[in-house]
Amino acid sequence: MTMNYLSTRNKDLRMSASQAIAKGLAPDGGLMTPAVLPRLPASAVETMKEMSYQQRVVYIMNSFLEGFAASELTAYAAEAYGGGKFSHEDVAPVRKLDDNTYCLELWHGPTCAFKDMALQVLPHLLTASLEKNDEKKTVCILVATSGDTGKAALEGFRNVDKTKILVFYPKDGVSEIQELQMVTQEGGNVSVSSVVGNFDDAQAGVKTLFSDEELVAELTQRGYFLSSANSINWGRVLPQIVYYASAYCDLLKSGAISKGEAINVCVPTGNFGNILAAYYAKVMGIPINRLICASNQNNVLTDFINTGTYDRNRTFYNTISPSMDILISSNLERMLFELSGRDDKLVCEYMSQLAEYGSYRVDSSIRTKLKREFNAGYCDDQQARDMIAKMWNEQNYLIDPHTAVAFHVLEEYREETGDDTVTIAVSTASPFKFCDSVLDALGVKEHRAGLEILDQLTEVTGVPTPAPLARLKKRRRRFEGGVEKSAMKNCVLEFLK
Ligand SMILES: *Cc1c(COP(=O)(O)O)cnc(C)c1O
Repeated sequence: MTMNYLSTRNKDLRMSASQAIAKGLAPDGGLMTPAVLPRLPASAVETMKEMSYQQRVVYIMNSFLEGFAASELTAYAAEAYGGGKFSHEDVAPVRKLDDNTYCLELWHGPTCAFKDMALQVLPHLLTASLEKNDEKKTVCILVATSGDTGKAALEGFRNVDKTKILVFYPKDGVSEIQELQMVTQEGGNVSVSSVVGNFDDAQAGVKTLFSDEELVAELTQRGYFLSSANSINWGRVLPQIVYYASAYCDLLKSGAISKGEAINVCVPTGNFGNILAAYYAKVMGIPINRLICASNQNNVLTDFINTGTYDRNRTFYNTISPSMDILISSNLERMLFELSGRDDKLVCEYMSQLAEYGSYRVDSSIRTKLKREFNAGYCDDQQARDMIAKMWNEQNYLIDPHTAVAFHVLEEYREETGDDTVTIAVSTASPFKFCDSVLDALGVKEHRAGLEILDQLTEVTGVPTPAPLARLKKRRRRFEGGVEKSAMKNCVLEFLK
């Protein structure tokens, strides 16, 4: 098998596709990335245009996954995106708002957030990878979540053979519904724990576990090895490339754009995984012009794109878009790798400065390239609430606070630049995951307690509650535990007894 994945910190550190997916992270701390980014044939869009979403998945993923037969990928795509798993038959439908504004809805999956797009298929890619690598041990997925990944990973891996999954979420950083979704998770191979602190604490804790040699040795003896389902895993990024290609095909099919016409995308961003996938889609040949990076008040990426200095030494805000409350955007490393002309030494340098000082400044060539590809803006909580109200009042379209960040930043971008290119704003969660903030935005002062708030939002708007959230009412809490960051290791050892 060809070793055609490499570490962003050492191009000589090679793995096959199945190894890259099974390992999740390179042993040197780098991110496994395709040695060559495949280019789509000129006819690709015309071909994919006539395909179902599942067929588009196979078409795109096939060119990245040597060692996986198309028939295997077809089966995974069917299991992940077919069979009623998604409540919309297009899986990732594109909704028209006006002649040059479209919304890509990525939350029709089982947990009502865009993480399902990747985490429904990742378990299939991962278990197949383990088999291809002749791995006998059981994999234990460790997840640090800012809210949505945890639930989506639990749902994706629930009762999948030869896997276990343990999710850590920041105690003060997820919504009530997000927390309920996780602590009521069913399945015999799952566990959930809160961690004192914010998302960066939880994520740093998980990273420490991965590099804890004593822990790894002990688990090996017990027949386990650790892997990641965080968006640093290539198996997370790859499925996300598909929906950008798919959305482009849908726009073309509906006549919204003409053949070859370039579009912009505006992506609400946290760990930089979603927008990175758009960049890869562009490199592969999907006609995308501007990549607009939308942040909330944790605007470390806005500053980075505008100034070339990444600096996490700043106040951390708990916002109403908690899945973007992140000061270290892990997937940015892959972007730096590409923009530096794949200079692994330089990536190492920046990443060690980030680890040591919490900041780094990229060279002028990277700064120029960043500006050539990206625009960036941010949106505070009040602006997000205003946008939710505006979309509801003017378009009769109910959006969640993350999606509102994208629409706000898009509006500012258009005011500043006058650019009226057809643009896809990415919608990453159902508004019903964030009822409190959405009701606030709509001016509803008294909120019902617990899950009754779902009915309240339905009564106020007439929009039905997504079935997976309505079902939460019948679920019991299974996981009540919480730990200090220093006790995460014990938590793993207990779980894998
Ligand atoms: C994870 C998430 C994001 C951020 O996506 P990244 O890939 O981390 O940039 C945005 N919105 C929602 C609802 C999310 O769950």
